[in-house]
Amino acid sequence: MAIKTPQDFIKSLKDNRTVYYAGEKIKDITQHPFLKICIDWMAMDYVLSNDPRYRELMVEKDKDGEDVPFILSAQKSREDLLRLREVVKLLARVCYGKPSGAKFVGKDGLNAVTVVAPRVDKKYGTNYAANVEKYRQYLRKNDLSLALAMTDVKGDRSLRPSQQKQHLDFYVHIVEERSDGIVVRGAKTHISQSPCSNEMIVVPCRAMKEDDKDYAVSFGINCDAKGITFVSTPAETDEPGNFFDHPISASTYINDALVVFDDVFVPNERVFMKGEWPLASNIAYMFGNFHRLSAETYKAAELEILTGAAIAMAEYNGIEKASHVQEKISWLIQYAEAVEILGRAACEHCVTEPDSDLVYPNPMVANICKLYFADNWHQATKYVQDIAGGIVATVPSAKDYFNPKTHDVMEKYFGGRDGVPTEDRLKMVKLVKDFTSVYEDVLTIHAEGSLAAQKMMIFANADFNRYKAAAKRVARIDDGTKDDIYSNLPDFPSKSY
Ligand SMILES: Cc1cc2nc3c(=O)[nH]c(=O)nc-3n(C[C@H](O)[C@H](O)[C@H](O)COP(=O)(O)OP(=O)(O)OC[C@H]3O[C@@H](n4cnc5c(N)ncnc54)[C@H](O)[C@@H]3O)c2cc1C
Repeated sequence: MAIKTPQDFIKSLKDNRTVYYAGEKIKDITQHPFLKICIDWMAMDYVLSNDPRYRELMVEKDKDGEDVPFILSAQKSREDLLRLREVVKLLARVCYGKPSGAKFVGKDGLNAVTVVAPRVDKKYGTNYAANVEKYRQYLRKNDLSLALAMTDVKGDRSLRPSQQKQHLDFYVHIVEERSDGIVVRGAKTHISQSPCSNEMIVVPCRAMKEDDKDYAVSFGINCDAKGITFVSTPAETDEPGNFFDHPISASTYINDALVVFDDVFVPNERVFMKGEWPLASNIAYMFGNFHRLSAETYKAAELEILTGAAIAMAEYNGIEKASHVQEKISWLIQYAEAVEILGRAACEHCVTEPDSDLVYPNPMVANICKLYFADNWHQATKYVQDIAGGIVATVPSAKDYFNPKTHDVMEKYFGGRDGVPTEDRLKMVKLVKDFTSVYEDVLTIHAEGSLAAQKMMIFANADFNRYKAAAKRVARIDDGTKDDIYSNLPDFPSKSY
């Protein structure tokens, strides 16, 4: 099968999946006005792959000479990572900051199990690597959309999966082993695009101990498998098609759903981990390594939009020469450019995974980049909201602007600088409102891992010896510890003359 068309993709979602939206079980998700926003956004992956202008970037030939999506290949070089960045950036720029979700998160889960499965096989004599490779080929050959289900609902965060008090299903786990496969139960949450994906890759989200053995489980599953229920997150807009009031949220709807596994059967050939608890955390860790590229690339594209909105609002309001405004815009530019540079640098200095030939962005640089953009997001939106004014909170709706009874007063009184159409000013206000919503705030803080996760990774990857050696050299402390850089530097002041 060749690269899918957007029509093929939409048709492929007409199955028996169980999806709820706002209290209602949806019979055909392709006809639902809100789910359609998510599907149309995901379909952009297929639109661009079929567009001759982008086909060379989006599509490659596999070993059989068939066209397959590049995004689902295993990246093996710095050049591959830089190409992947271009793919994600294109998707993000086209889709108003949010790269089409068809494979955006799923591909990183697939890469994570591609690295970890051979490690498990080596240690336990299992055969998971072959399952993963077969699954990758199936996804590529059929150009399938793929979600990644890692985050369990978790219950009491201070307790491990097997220690939970209310019930033992807060984390997805194996409830039955059969000769032909396993049966799983539990729930994952915030699973982006999952109700509208073809497939879903399920992985553990944390380290496990021996008691948690049944929770160390990973597999690939079709989204219409028996026993899976999706409960959708409501869309951010309540008016599909109203691009005036909701320029972003009427165009992109990520639908980070609750996914319930109610005794779901997984055949053996789709299992990638089954009880090998010491290696469970490896998958979560590896997913983070691969997913940093995706997060940092689309965030850089989003920050172009956010910075542009601040500049445009300053001009529309006639304040672009005010020193406090210039200072804020200068900070926003620095923020946007730093995220771009750090994200790219992480790929330039990529790491080759020793247990496979896959590469991923440098974890130190990538985690600094992720922490930097997440930690500073509220500062950025504060500046943009400050420049745009209180109208961001109080602006009337498009229905009033286009109502002949109220249009003229809005046109007259919501004008800004002379020469700027009132409609343009209002549209930009709406963009700021949409872009600085609570959803965007929480997405930036938590999606792709909360702040503490990046700090832990920075700590884990830090070269403590180098820092200490640098300080001890200046303080003239020689305690016998050696460092590759600092122990080999010439004396200063020099003793050579
Ligand atoms: C918009 C969006 C999209 C997402 N998409 C996906 C997706 O597609 N797939 C997916 O798998 N996940 C997805 N996520 C989930 C995301 O990775 C999690 O939100 C993130 O890892 C935080 O987990 P949590 O939401 O359960 O918050 P919590 O874990 O409850 O975190 C809340 C706070 O508690 C702290 N905390 C938690 N546990 C401990 C502990 N044991 N000790 C000390 N402190 C602790 C955290 O550091 C944080 O400060 C998405 C999230 C969002 C918001």
